[in-house]
Amino acid sequence: MTTEAAVRTLQNFVDGEWRDADPAGYDDVPNPATGELLARTPLSSAADVEAAVRAAAAAFPAWAATPVVERARLLFRYKALLEERFEELAQIVTRENGKTIADARGEVRRGIEVVEFACGAPTLMMGEMLLDVARGVDCESMRVPLGVVAGITPFNFPMMVPHWMFPVALACGNTFVLKPSERTPLTAVRLTELLMEAGLPAGVLNLVHGAHHAVNALLTHPSVAAVSFVGSQPVAEHVYRTAAASGKRVQALAGAKNHLIVMPDADLDKTVEAIMSSAFGAAGERCLAGSVVVAVGEVADALVERLSAAASAITVGNGADERTEMGPVIRDSARERISGYIERGVSDGARLVCDGRDGAPSGGYFLRPTVFDAVTPEMAIARDEIFGPVLGVVRAPDLDAALGVVNASRFGNAASIFTRSGAAAREFRQRVQAGMLGVNIGVAAPMAYFPFAGHKWSFYGDLHATGKDAVAFYTETKVITSRW
Ligand code: NAD
Repeated sequence: MTTEAAVRTLQNFVDGEWRDADPAGYDDVPNPATGELLARTPLSSAADVEAAVRAAAAAFPAWAATPVVERARLLFRYKALLEERFEELAQIVTRENGKTIADARGEVRRGIEVVEFACGAPTLMMGEMLLDVARGVDCESMRVPLGVVAGITPFNFPMMVPHWMFPVALACGNTFVLKPSERTPLTAVRLTELLMEAGLPAGVLNLVHGAHHAVNALLTHPSVAAVSFVGSQPVAEHVYRTAAASGKRVQALAGAKNHLIVMPDADLDKTVEAIMSSAFGAAGERCLAGSVVVAVGEVADALVERLSAAASAITVGNGADERTEMGPVIRDSARERISGYIERGVSDGARLVCDGRDGAPSGGYFLRPTVFDAVTPEMAIARDEIFGPVLGVVRAPDLDAALGVVNASRFGNAASIFTRSGAAAREFRQRVQAGMLGVNIGVAAPMAYFPFAGHKWSFYGDLHATGKDAVAFYTETKVITSRW
């Protein structure tokens, strides 16, 4: 175990240097697999936010005036450093978040892919032109950066989610203040060091640790032009309302409750494999995790039997061990909350097929996979985002009824169908109310060139993260009409 004295207290990064925060307090950062204390996060104050925003605002004119090709070249250097440090970054993610090392490597790759996308800024930022909109009059549009952008991120993707934001924002000429999750702040520290190594000028990216105090100071700060947020639904709604009321551009990506429809003609081997990875990958702590299976028609009995057998066979342990298939959840409090949902499922009358409270390893915040059958849509386990390794099976007589179950959800992040029928897949695609759809895919995560497109309670705003939406979000358009 690390001794108290050896535990690092994290610093903020402001105007090109590491500085002690002036915090309201500290949060411990344990390794969720062992409980070992890794660091202490300062819960930065409004004064810390003020210093960071001031540095970002001061750096903005020179950064915005830096030719876009030079900004892109810097990101190419950063991308090369990320490749060099790939394994180190994956290990940091596993250590602070608990997900398996294989999952962490996937996350690092996903983060790098957004940097690759952002390196295309010279093309992505191009405007349009039309000659002779009237006799002798031409019209053209151009994209300009906004100013200071704030990014507020969740614990579950400490590498990927910050990368949805700052590479594109910086490439477009904005400066940035990143407020990472207080529960997984270590990856952001390493990324900041790598950005500096790549040659990012002082003040262009600033890192402020903390929780709601720091967030609220960012949401109302007059020099912050835009806010990118990813986190739970209630906080996303608060961020959207507060920042919009302060006149800011906001995108707030929120919680989820993702449904996986299984048709009677699905290939069951592949379907069960995909559902396992969707429901129990990263211990269910993904916004694209499948958490409700809607079993259509006669497939249900066989499907439940197979899901139960596969879930029971999952190896749970420290994610740093290559053999581990599912790591711990983030904190003991999360384990208690998830266990509370399992109890609630039983008392609401669902049939507990695999009880994840039994047989979990000790020493960290472990649960085993849980599977419920006979779940009905009004139960809490079918409605709420549990954000843990709990899968419920709802039975539906046909596709129409299955779509009714999915569309009754308040959330609309992702949904998938497993089928051999093109007609069923097409009907699903047209009628389902969710933004990221999978056909025979368990985790329908869009690549960096497409938007991360949640609907309903899963997203607040207009322009989504990544893809061309991100470029539009991080730029303002000017339209020039000229006569000479
Ligand atoms: P969270 O909402 O607790 O925290 C997210 C961020 O908000 C953190 O930086 C945190 O410090 C800050 N925060 C927390 N409470 C706050 C408050 N009251 N006021 C102001 N700021 C506050 O989320 P989390 O538990 O870290 O992450 C998990 C959640 O994120 C899940 O709901 C998951 O679905 C969601 N998520 C969504 C997406 C998506 O793309 N839609 C992606 C990843 C995670």
